[in-house]
Amino acid sequence: MNHVIVTGGAGYIGSHACKALAQAGFVPVTFDNLVTGWEDAVKFGPFEKGDLLDRARLDEVFSAYEPVAVMHFAALSQVGESMKAPGKYWLNNVQGSLNLIEATVEAGVRNFVFSSTCATYGDHDNVTLDESVEQLPINAYGASKRAIEDMLRDFDAAYGLHSVIFRYFNVAGADPEAEVGEFHQPETHLIPLMLDAIDGKRDALTIFGTDYDTPDGTCIRDYVHVCDLVDAHVLGLKRLLDGHGSRVFNLGTGTGFSVREVIDQSRAVTNRAVPYNEGPRRAGDCTKLVSGSTRAEKELGWEPKRSKMDLMIADAWRWHQTGHYDK
Ligand code: UDP
Repeated sequence: MNHVIVTGGAGYIGSHACKALAQAGFVPVTFDNLVTGWEDAVKFGPFEKGDLLDRARLDEVFSAYEPVAVMHFAALSQVGESMKAPGKYWLNNVQGSLNLIEATVEAGVRNFVFSSTCATYGDHDNVTLDESVEQLPINAYGASKRAIEDMLRDFDAAYGLHSVIFRYFNVAGADPEAEVGEFHQPETHLIPLMLDAIDGKRDALTIFGTDYDTPDGTCIRDYVHVCDLVDAHVLGLKRLLDGHGSRVFNLGTGTGFSVREVIDQSRAVTNRAVPYNEGPRRAGDCTKLVSGSTRAEKELGWEPKRSKMDLMIADAWRWHQTGHYDK
């Protein structure tokens, strides 16, 4: 059987990846500690509860399924939190990944797909962010992901562990069939927070900083639809299974949207007012993060089909309205 261990398969991106893997003929085995994931998001393959810090549990799951590859999503991923509690990020992300990578190698598996982030680049003024740009993260989240990238390079050199590293820009949207979607507790991401505010489920959105050096003063991000993102993962996995070596890919569209532009588009898509106010900057936020690479399109044949801002908001809004996780 074509088993793929999917760490974080009960989370937002991991659950979408499981759906895409199942559709591509793989059996996704979710390994998740349910700290930030949801068991009812595990719909497309077996579930194995476990923590990356528990090496014995990892070994048990590897020997039970004999996977062809690992897809590693499980991580703490909040920029703001990482600045306040960096130790959590170094322990869970870096030590957790070390355990996983060692378990992978010892199980004889040599194919590894890793979810990294554009936060590893840091703030680069007027530099096109392609994969060759120096990684100078300005927050502990980005630093933890960069450390894992370094670790993968060392394990490739020592043991021939081939990896595809994806540096995500901002992931948004939801499965158009609304089987899975975005839900974090607590929520910190712009679009779901805004949809909650539109819906009256929480207070007004606060814009974090209006004095950035951008045309409207708010931060600029490159948003990519979660379904396009996970399609790239399946392509990356197939590349590894075809025998190619390690490679890094940015996953973004090359188009940036400011926070104010996202608010405007949300108003247009939902046809509702967006309650918001303006607040101070959030520690650790880069001014502008926009991908400047088409490597994934050229080398993987990746075609981002749903990564248009209005579609991403519409898909997120449809998921939001299913009320899946309303408490
Ligand atoms: N943002 C904001 N208010 C919020 C949450 C986010 O203004 O309540 C801004 C944040 O400063 C950043 C952008 O929206 O510029 C995207 O933030 P998010 O947390 O969604 O993703 P990140 O870029 O941190 O990965």
